[in-house]
Amino acid sequence: MTPASALVDQRSRPLRVLRLSLTARCNLACPYCCPDLEDPPDLLRLEQQLCLIRVACRLGIHTLRLTGGEPLLSARLLPLLQAIAAARATPGDPLQGLQQVALTTNGTLLSDQRARELRQAGLDRITVSLDGVDGAVVARMAGRPTATAGESLVQKVLGGLASARSAGFDPLAGELKLNAVIQRGVNEDQLLPLADLARDQGVELRLIEYMDVGNRNQWRPDQVLSAAEMVTRIRARWPLQAVGRPTGGTAQRWRYVDGGGHLGVIASISEPFCGDCNRLRVTANGQAFRCLFASVGTDLKPALHCEAELLRLVADLWRRRDDRYSEERQRMTGSMPHAEMAYLGG
Ligand code: SAM
Ligand code: SF4
Repeated sequence: MTPASALVDQRSRPLRVLRLSLTARCNLACPYCCPDLEDPPDLLRLEQQLCLIRVACRLGIHTLRLTGGEPLLSARLLPLLQAIAAARATPGDPLQGLQQVALTTNGTLLSDQRARELRQAGLDRITVSLDGVDGAVVARMAGRPTATAGESLVQKVLGGLASARSAGFDPLAGELKLNAVIQRGVNEDQLLPLADLARDQGVELRLIEYMDVGNRNQWRPDQVLSAAEMVTRIRARWPLQAVGRPTGGTAQRWRYVDGGGHLGVIASISEPFCGDCNRLRVTANGQAFRCLFASVGTDLKPALHCEAELLRLVADLWRRRDDRYSEERQRMTGSMPHAEMAYLGG
């Protein structure tokens, strides 16, 4: 077996995080993401998902992030969490090495009951996505038809945050966070209102640069508001102190000098962090992607019946990994096809 500590890719990067998508479908239609209307027919079954997670743990992952599409649409979520919790509690199981099981969700389906079930099933962290507080702007970002629909979406997401908090997800312990994609000229005016909301809620806000994931969103570089610009605007209102980006992490973190908590910015476009990227992404139908911006994945399904075979396949895939698309983007001429964000899961 490959010892976890020995497995590194062509750029000496270890495998530490598995992002597993549960569905490519979504109940929203954010135009920057453009999710699928239907799932592929061959979604992974529970035993296949567990086989993958077990192998990833053997290869060194400490964090599993469940995502989508919208993962709360998936009937597979709860049984998977329950099976993971049982394995984490079993002496000798590779899943005992798992330090965090996290979920990224748009929060619209996060009722009190769902949040309680997720917590009881062993989920450690939730990141909720919301791209503004103004109904009309949120409607544009989420593909809703009217400002009223946008307002109702904001209320639902706030309800989701409250449900998560009362189910025990503690923002102070980093167990509840807020994600927002910022698109220049579309929701940049929501930066301060979002920061205000997050400070008020006591949750860390993570501002994400608009990325060229997928082929459907007609991304253009001039639609990106850089993380540096976001920080400049926020610190003009609330002074900030740099905390830095942890190795292998995605967000550069800042501390509000007035004690209002933390802020994160994810500068995948303007300050790529390929150099220590430790993430493997697997779609809901078992395609492994070594980079968020890759064109094609590797089908893991033929190996998902046998842990030893899968371990060889994934280890080999990781060892050969050389991707650093974000760092190369500016030097590239012409565009290359990318897999869609809702398929990959972010
Ligand atoms: N539906 C869930 C949600 O929205 O949180 C999970 C899946 S979504 C693909 C994961 C994250 O990717 C979300 O925070 C979303 O805002 C972000 N995202 C989607 N498309 C993006 C893009 N083109 N650029 C930057 N972030 C994007
Ligand atoms: Fe759905 Fe999340 Fe994509 Fe928005 S970003 S369409 S909520 S999967």
